[in-house]
Amino acid sequence: MKYISTRGDHSPKHFCDILLEGLAPDGGLYLPESYPHVDDATLSRWRDIYHKQGYAELAFEILSLYIDDIPAADMKALCAKTYTAEVFGTGEIVPLRHLENNIWLEALSNGPTLAFKDMAMQLLGNLFEYELARRGEELNILGATSGDTGSAAEYAMRGKKGVRVFMTSPYGRMSPFQQAQMFSLMDDNIFNIAVDGVFDDCQDMVKAVSNDLDFKRQYKIGTVNSINWARLLAQVVYYFAGYFQATETNVEKVSFTVPSGNFGNICAGHVARMMGLPVAKLVVATNENDVLDEFFKTGVYRVRVSADTHETSSPSMDISKASNFERFIFDLLGRDGARVKSLFGDALARSGQFDLSQHPAFNDCRMRYGFESGKSTHSDRLATIKDTFERKGMMIDTHTADGVKVAREYLQAGVPMIVLETALPIKFAETIVEATGQQPDRPAKFVGIEDLPKRVTRMAADAQAIKTFIAEHCV
Ligand SMILES: *Cc1c(COP(=O)(O)O)cnc(C)c1O
Repeated sequence: MKYISTRGDHSPKHFCDILLEGLAPDGGLYLPESYPHVDDATLSRWRDIYHKQGYAELAFEILSLYIDDIPAADMKALCAKTYTAEVFGTGEIVPLRHLENNIWLEALSNGPTLAFKDMAMQLLGNLFEYELARRGEELNILGATSGDTGSAAEYAMRGKKGVRVFMTSPYGRMSPFQQAQMFSLMDDNIFNIAVDGVFDDCQDMVKAVSNDLDFKRQYKIGTVNSINWARLLAQVVYYFAGYFQATETNVEKVSFTVPSGNFGNICAGHVARMMGLPVAKLVVATNENDVLDEFFKTGVYRVRVSADTHETSSPSMDISKASNFERFIFDLLGRDGARVKSLFGDALARSGQFDLSQHPAFNDCRMRYGFESGKSTHSDRLATIKDTFERKGMMIDTHTADGVKVAREYLQAGVPMIVLETALPIKFAETIVEATGQQPDRPAKFVGIEDLPKRVTRMAADAQAIKTFIAEHCV
């Protein structure tokens, strides 16, 4: 399997070439040359593997179709080491539970940081360690976070050989729980940096360092953001695992509703569907930051400026643009890299938007690719959390609540609707208390984490300061 860029560069690359890379050199995102097709017999075999041998074996089967430059035995070992009941809480790894009517919740948030990003990031940590050792190289991951991504990256990379993580976050702006999760890590290769400023200041510092090409090369600076293909690929597996739990035969279809921000999670659903997974609808649920809902309703993709990006109670979906969306548009436009380049490289840079409403392919979003969309606001979120708690005794987090709200708008008789549970309520306790009057349950391993000693360096919002810090800690 070779990989190409969404902006037309077709110099083919292997999986491990793009594993440690971010964007393609032409500014595009990597996608496989074609999607492997899964026939009925293979689907049945995988169903059996998931039920009898478990998630790690299923992951190995799916990843092997996309990775041909890691020996099979090594790949199997990496999957087995990643997807354990010890790390993810249950043998199913992503258990399905019934909510109401034909709505099910697929639990993706029982990993180390209680959000779905662990599903991919835990594998990425093991893949990075493996590949860096094989090359005899080191990598310094530099990132900016307002919560979930940074903690998932740190818990994936902690103690890994050849990797250091330098994670900036806005000083005093994360929830006490999130701060405790990150700042209590004492591993030698994890560095928390609290910046005097807001999230955008953190991101600007990261950009400034990445734009200093000499520094970037000398200190081997890399990222783990959501455009990384390996992260997306790892997420494809749980769409299959959800399907196998919700159905008994391959003639049945299911739909998925996915709380969405950067379009990474649901893009993995699109890939699964392209491979032949029997999916009826892929429903995009957004919060007040409704860039994606607007596109699927009108055909206009309009990036927001910072002032129009809302701070919401489902903060991991507070985006101004959807970084992975380019991947879907590439498929939608018949993989025309020149056209994608003119939309994402030129039109967005020039006017912050493009309009496909008159393009013949726009109808394909729904008709051919199964996409639907909807939006949920703070009051919807509160009402949904309260309702599922009072009627069903189930507490769901704020992002998952956005998913449930929108899922209810797209039910079809006889088609199970699987809502992806992207975080546990304890991470967003304030809103849960507002909705239900009760504190969410806290898994035993997180009891008292706010009282643990913290390891964090406070810093001015200054790119030179972080360069100096990195240089001092890379010896
Ligand atoms: C990151 C995140 C999302 C959004 O996922 P995307 O891949 O960016 O669409 C939704 N919910 C939670 C809890 C998250 O951490």
